[in-house]
Amino acid sequence: MQLDKLRHLKVMQEGIQLPTIVVVGDQSSGKSSVLESLAGINLPRGQGICTRVPLIMRLQHHSDPLPELHLEFLGRTVQTDETHISDAINQATDEIAGSGKVVKKNGVPDLTMVDLPGITRVPVHGQPDDIYEQISAIITEYIKPEESIILNVLSATVDFPTCESIRMSQRVDKTGLRTLAVVTKADKAPEGLLNKVEADDVNIGLGYVCVRNRIGDESYDEARKEEANLFETHPLLSKFDKSIVGIPVLAQKLVRIQATIIAKCLPEIVRKINDKLSANRSELTRMPQNLTSVPEAMSALMQIIGSSVETLRKVLLRGEFEEYPDDKHMHCTARLELENSSEDNYKDNFLMEEIRVLEETRGIWLPNFLPRAAFLMILQNKVKEISGAPVEFVSKVWEYIEKVVVAVLKRHSEHYPQLESSTRRAAQNLIAKRKDMSADRVAEIIEMEKIIDYTCDPEYLTVWVEVGHLKSFPSIRDQAFDIKMRITAYWKIVLKRLVDSMALNLQFSVNNLVNMDMEKEILTELMDPHGGGLERLLEESHSVATKRERLNKSIKLLKDSKEVVAKVMDRIAFNAD
Ligand code: GDP
Ligand code: MG
Repeated sequence: MQLDKLRHLKVMQEGIQLPTIVVVGDQSSGKSSVLESLAGINLPRGQGICTRVPLIMRLQHHSDPLPELHLEFLGRTVQTDETHISDAINQATDEIAGSGKVVKKNGVPDLTMVDLPGITRVPVHGQPDDIYEQISAIITEYIKPEESIILNVLSATVDFPTCESIRMSQRVDKTGLRTLAVVTKADKAPEGLLNKVEADDVNIGLGYVCVRNRIGDESYDEARKEEANLFETHPLLSKFDKSIVGIPVLAQKLVRIQATIIAKCLPEIVRKINDKLSANRSELTRMPQNLTSVPEAMSALMQIIGSSVETLRKVLLRGEFEEYPDDKHMHCTARLELENSSEDNYKDNFLMEEIRVLEETRGIWLPNFLPRAAFLMILQNKVKEISGAPVEFVSKVWEYIEKVVVAVLKRHSEHYPQLESSTRRAAQNLIAKRKDMSADRVAEIIEMEKIIDYTCDPEYLTVWVEVGHLKSFPSIRDQAFDIKMRITAYWKIVLKRLVDSMALNLQFSVNNLVNMDMEKEILTELMDPHGGGLERLLEESHSVATKRERLNKSIKLLKDSKEVVAKVMDRIAFNAD
């Protein structure tokens, strides 16, 4: 089957889903037995030994009377034969979590199926407590894609609506459109079976097939004879329409369903292959040239620095984020909250601070005369109270800028990972210097506000004048109130001035960093002969080489897949004629 070639090419590795028949069923419902019957081989079966990992089984008809079986796991292919397949699978299962198996045999249907672990509610010997969650996660992953056909294996001995596998498949395929039921153990519970199947309480869109699998050590041929006999002669089972009983009917139905779904899915598969192919091709062309000489390396380096600086100008200086539309972290906004906590205790402490200071600085002064010492002391206290915030703010801003700068440099030198550590070091050095300068500057600004009270801001007068009518009351309370009002008016200006001068300083500093220091510092750091100098750039990094190789491989694979799909489509079109 051509589609198998596609599977063999492993387009699934490229994230492209292929139509698959997925076998689900509760534990011991007879999943492995059904697969066995379809393949005509013995699988690990029965108590204790159960399917623990998804097993992909490909059945292929071939005309050679000798069957050909192999197991694929962990990238290996192991030849085996009918007597050893069961042991071989167990061995492979012990080694891995995911295996494939190919059975080429005369007379088997061309099918690809996945046998999944059975579903249990209750963990048995040695199984982890969350076995149900683990298994249902695996199963869901396989049955969720629209391309999957769900082969739900139900034992005739149980009530269908109570089956976990029914619940699970209904979750992803509500109307049952891509679910087919196989009822096993028809021989064990023939009473009422016809009713159960006809009632279809569990919404099986693709219908039911009742079977009897191999029992004990019957041979495959004996088992088929017994089955045919059973549905021929059993008083209850013989009443079933022949189109819904027996392994051969099941095989035929599966082949037909698989062909239909493949035809339906192909156009989508082609589209996905094409998308993937062009994405990989453009990624490959975007990969850097392999540098071979020092001038080439120099020019690549200047390009990296130039484009990094340009990006930094955009995000740090001009606030243009088009290179990082969704990464809010690169949007460089900062906010400084300066608030006096004492301002909140209005009710209880109103004027108390002012009165305390006035008492302390009590001297002889004229009524209406501003007690300047008191004013300054209160001002100093207030400045002291908030002085931590600007320092912390500046430090945070620089930390943030460092992150942005490092991220931008990293992005622009992504093809030369060997540069990452030196560009990062350059950025960190520079920012450490700038950070120290800012801290000094902020300390100075705060110190100035503590020592000097000055403003030519007209807002001060407008606020203050509003309370001017109180100044003719020369009691200490009124003086306190007077001071309070002056301080309030002046404080607004102090805060504005702090924020303004810090903002100005930070912007100036960032501007110098980006426009003046950056290029020089990176060059100095990179040209340092101890670090390997520019020659470093001449060796293509391992990760880039690997990526190039991976892309080339994946492009080849996708191209091959495209050819295979084209052939399959031709054949379908041909058959339809
Ligand atoms: P799985 O856990 O779903 O893979 O179930 P198995 O295929 O291992 O089968 C569980 C048990 O049911 C085994 O002992 C099988 O021999 C038995 N079994 C499966 N199908 C039939 C059937 O059609 N008739 C009878 N009588 N027993 C069956
Ligand atoms: Mg099993």
